Amino acid sequence: TQYVYRFGGGVSDGGRGDRNLLGGKGANLDEMASIGLPVPPGFTISTPMCAVYYDEGGKFPDSLKAEVANGIAHIEQITGKRFGDAADPLLVSVRSGARASMPGMMDTVLNLGLNDATVEGLATVSGDARFAWDSYRRFIQMYSDVVLELDHSRFEEALEIAKEDNGYYLDTDLTADDWRKLVDEYKALVQELWGKPFPQDVHDQLWGAIGAVFGSWQSERAKVYRRLNDIPASWGTAVNVQAMVFGNMGDTSATGVAFTRDPSKGDNAYYGEFLINAQGEDVVAGIRTPQYLTKAAREAAGAKPASMEEAMPEVYGELANVFDLLERHYRDMQDIEFTVQQGKLWMLQTRSGKRTAKAALKIAVDMANEGLITREEAIARIDPAALDQLLHPTLDPKAPRDVLTKGLPASPGAASGKVVFTADAAETAAKDGQDVILVRVETSPEDIHGMHAAKGILTARGGMTSHAAVVARGMGRPCVSGAGALSIGNGVMRVGDREVKEGDILTIDGSTGEVMAGAVPTVQPELSGDFGTLMEWADGIRRMKVRTNAETPLDCRTARDFGAEGIGLCRTEHMFFEASRITSVRQMILASDEAGRRAALEKLLPEQRSDFVEIFETMAGLPCTIRLLDPPLHEFLPHADAEFEDLATATGIDIDTLKRRAAELHEFNPMLGHRGCRLGVTYPEIYEMQARAIFEAAVSLEAAPVPEIMIPLVATKRELELMKAVVDKAAEAVFAETGKRVDYLVGTMIELPRAALRAGEIAEAGQFFSFGTNDLTQTTLGVSRDDAARFLTDYVEQGIYAKDPFVSLDVEGVGELVKLAAERGRATRGDIKLGICGEHGGDPASIAFCEAVGLDYVSASPYRVPIARLAAAQAAL
Ligand code: PEP
Ligand code: MG
Repeated sequence: TQYVYRFGGGVSDGGRGDRNLLGGKGANLDEMASIGLPVPPGFTISTPMCAVYYDEGGKFPDSLKAEVANGIAHIEQITGKRFGDAADPLLVSVRSGARASMPGMMDTVLNLGLNDATVEGLATVSGDARFAWDSYRRFIQMYSDVVLELDHSRFEEALEIAKEDNGYYLDTDLTADDWRKLVDEYKALVQELWGKPFPQDVHDQLWGAIGAVFGSWQSERAKVYRRLNDIPASWGTAVNVQAMVFGNMGDTSATGVAFTRDPSKGDNAYYGEFLINAQGEDVVAGIRTPQYLTKAAREAAGAKPASMEEAMPEVYGELANVFDLLERHYRDMQDIEFTVQQGKLWMLQTRSGKRTAKAALKIAVDMANEGLITREEAIARIDPAALDQLLHPTLDPKAPRDVLTKGLPASPGAASGKVVFTADAAETAAKDGQDVILVRVETSPEDIHGMHAAKGILTARGGMTSHAAVVARGMGRPCVSGAGALSIGNGVMRVGDREVKEGDILTIDGSTGEVMAGAVPTVQPELSGDFGTLMEWADGIRRMKVRTNAETPLDCRTARDFGAEGIGLCRTEHMFFEASRITSVRQMILASDEAGRRAALEKLLPEQRSDFVEIFETMAGLPCTIRLLDPPLHEFLPHADAEFEDLATATGIDIDTLKRRAAELHEFNPMLGHRGCRLGVTYPEIYEMQARAIFEAAVSLEAAPVPEIMIPLVATKRELELMKAVVDKAAEAVFAETGKRVDYLVGTMIELPRAALRAGEIAEAGQFFSFGTNDLTQTTLGVSRDDAARFLTDYVEQGIYAKDPFVSLDVEGVGELVKLAAERGRATRGDIKLGICGEHGGDPASIAFCEAVGLDYVSASPYRVPIARLAAAQAAL
């Protein structure tokens, strides 16, 4: 097997199609080289080597030695320099590159190939001793951190002390001699911390770095990132070894990162940052605050330091051409890394850029309108789950704000919460159900779990492309970065004379960069513009209808605004909890006979009727599936003594009797107990009352809806027949009393394996099926939906289930039952209406499955309706 693939200098062993083999970075370097862009020569060690390396216990097969030697020879030939040559040394970078981009998660080593001899050669050839010694100290620092895993704070400390001793403020103030002295200190530090001298053999350096990059695939932060982004551990990373180019060779050199369009808002304008006389990690790490790429951006921000467009107009022009070429070539917004070495432009990376949901929408719609992509492609490019970012509230523009300071608007959206200063504290507080804002000087990849747990992120340092900004945008967390006026330490954050302590409430607005004391009220976002356009395109493509799970007029209204085409599940029990009704409900439950129950139901009837009138009115003739009472009765029981006292007063029954009756209702396994249609079987008068309320509401309306009455937790045809008889009888009674009729359907949920298996005969009794995949998952897997959280993460981590089966349908198991029930149901009743109303109805992967099985509709909670509309369109593409 071949593991090494070369690129540069007219050679491209791979191309953009080889992402799985070469990783995204490697494949795109090959591709850029093959279309004639200036790429420093190099080679990629392919991803399968990552698994080999782990299987061999951290060793490489012998064959790789010769391949890597060939790769180095390729770089030497193109550059005319030799690796380890004391007179004119070749220096290389060693970087990771997985199939899916994992920004900042894995290791990089730059300036590799420097030692006590080659540094002198570099000084002579470059004519710049300061540059050579600065590069050497950077190399020792990075190598010690990444490969030798020594405590990097000791190295930073040494640098800080060197600056202080000399009265310097910036790194750029240090002279060649200062750096030379620091190199001696660094080498002594390596000896002290590692017990051995810093490796001088350049080949040892190279193999050490290659091993470290492969090793970083299994680092904690990489694992967390993979888990959050569903990236399989088996993919592995590639390693890219590439000739160094230097952005730190004086004022005609620079390094930068750029996006071909604004990754935050989506505007069609170059967007990026650069630093003169710096190396790549200076920009990304957010240590020096970078300068703007374009004049327009600089002016818009009111910043002073010259933009790249102004400082280096010629190279900027060349770069702008490359941006256009790459965007046309890849037909997507690109995220680009470049370096200018003494006036010459070099491309180091291109990839499809991460973007906010807002930007994703705008870019997709714009590109379709520009003719760069088709509408179908535009639809396919939006991650439905990311729409969530857009549907949630933003700060009320009219609410007063106590603005403490302003940073960069790094990731849009508003968030309020308690201030925490560490990622661990964020995670702990979030587990306790608290909303937190993670406040850091700057974030590093180690903070990723805390960023995920936080509602928002605020940093004092770092630009729009800093780690915090990139990761927050990817996660959809609001983020304000580079709020330079903040000082953070000892559990407080200070701005001027204001102090915010750990636990105080803070609000950030990632769209404006504002940081505010206290909580600021929010408003619903407008769903117009690009969002509306894309949704319209999606609606033109999808086959399945999208309904909503809702039981209050407010939820129904929200869902309709989001485009719901009906109600797929109205859980009537939610209506029973209202303060005005709960006493009647309890009276019904605790009644000792039918007469007692009927008396209580009599009081509930008008309340239920008015619920349905409101819902039917809100839904204005759209189909509404109403499910009759489902949960075990004891869920409605009083708990506190005061509640029992109230009930005793209301019913005239003494407290002891009430308590005894409540105790009798206790069940060992209520989820499998007296619930669902079993309640209707033992107490038909409950379902009778509910059906009557539905029909009385329906006949009272001008535009009568077609109610779809749904019986829960059916296992047998007979259950459904009995319950349908109760409903039909109530309907006839209401029609006779009022002299008006409405059409209606009676159907069932399929949420038990037996129901799925016997769907053929159940379809004889019911006119529709709605898959209740919450219970169907619970009963098929034998996993309690209320207790699963404790062990399911272990199950997912160990690959037993690919995803939480209560979130994303277990297609192989539960899905098989759904498919079978759909087939058997249709065989009996060709026009049977089929839908899904479990949580999976709002999950894009599950929606794709529903399309494949041919369901008529999916039903999702109101905020997930747009997600479902888009996912249904994607499934139909
Ligand atoms: C289901 O079981 O999937 C369902 C929708 O019903 P509930 O969640 O109310 O049990
Ligand atoms: Mg259920």
